[in-house]
Amino acid sequence: AKKFGGNRVEFFRPGMRSQQTDRLALETDLRRALERGEIKPVFQPIVRLEDRTIAGFEALLRWDHPRFGRLNPADFIPIAEETGLIIDLGIFVLERTARELAAWQRALDVTPPIFASVNVSSRQLLRHDLLNDVKAVMTRSGVHRGTLKLELTESLVMENPEYATQILQRIRELGAGLALDDFGTGHSSLAYLQRFPFDTIKIDKSFVRPDARGARPTILRSIVSLAHDLGMEVVAEGAETESDTIELYQLGCEYAQGYAFGQPISALEARKLVGAPPEE
Ligand code: C2E
Ligand code: CA
Ligand code: CA
Ligand code: CA
Repeated sequence: AKKFGGNRVEFFRPGMRSQQTDRLALETDLRRALERGEIKPVFQPIVRLEDRTIAGFEALLRWDHPRFGRLNPADFIPIAEETGLIIDLGIFVLERTARELAAWQRALDVTPPIFASVNVSSRQLLRHDLLNDVKAVMTRSGVHRGTLKLELTESLVMENPEYATQILQRIRELGAGLALDDFGTGHSSLAYLQRFPFDTIKIDKSFVRPDARGARPTILRSIVSLAHDLGMEVVAEGAETESDTIELYQLGCEYAQGYAFGQPISALEARKLVGAPPEE
């Protein structure tokens, strides 16, 4: 049985409905959910450690299901990937995020400008014209060059490294940023890392947080210096406490993201936070 955390509705109840039935129900619902506006991105701040100002936000999808309550990506992204609905979801989150980013940038005149990052799934990169989507969204929204970023995991790019490199090069040339997500969790290939055109490494929270014995993983320092040697900036994920934050800064990470700086918030709340007017 699977449980949602916090005060979320418990969804897969043992002995009640089978997971298979629930999955089918979700699959059908997912098709309509987008049109009905039940799915939307929330935005989690990414903080510049030097001065603890907001450098950007990561868009994370949520589904407010009419019966099951708020669902996290783990509950519906896999279904979206298998059914192909991830393509429409992906375009939606790109468009929506670029629109918010443009509003933040109009309100905040800072150098470098505020950025936004969006997660990309395997199917979007390898079996769809992602390049074209990114181009369209960047042109229409008028966001600053380099401020709309895509986050991709190692396992995704390693599915087809040659093809991924080609597409990613062209996406970079368009002026989008590229972050390697969840670094350290996959089968990292240092040789490939050098060939992929990433500008940012996001270190997975499992390398950021102290382990069961309370020790900070020793590999953290190596990952940070590797990233810097390759000319990349570092975002540490899962910064939950003040001591996480201080150590990450001392290790030379440029940015941190995590509950220490805030949970993901709605588009409206993010606008308030950066001083942008609410949606017209
Ligand atoms: P991710 O890209 O690694 O996103 C970070 C996850 O860590 C988010 O979970 C976030 O809420 C959570 N998190 C943030 N700060 C902390 C912290 O301090 N401590 C801990 N323990 N966790 C923290 P979330 O929102 O449930 O997203 C899960 C995954 O779903 C994401 O992992 C991403 O891979 C995927 N996802 C989310 N939105 C999208 C999307 O639009 N498209 C695609 N393809 N995948 C998405
Ligand atoms: Ca991510
Ligand atoms: Ca991540
Ligand atoms: Ca993850």
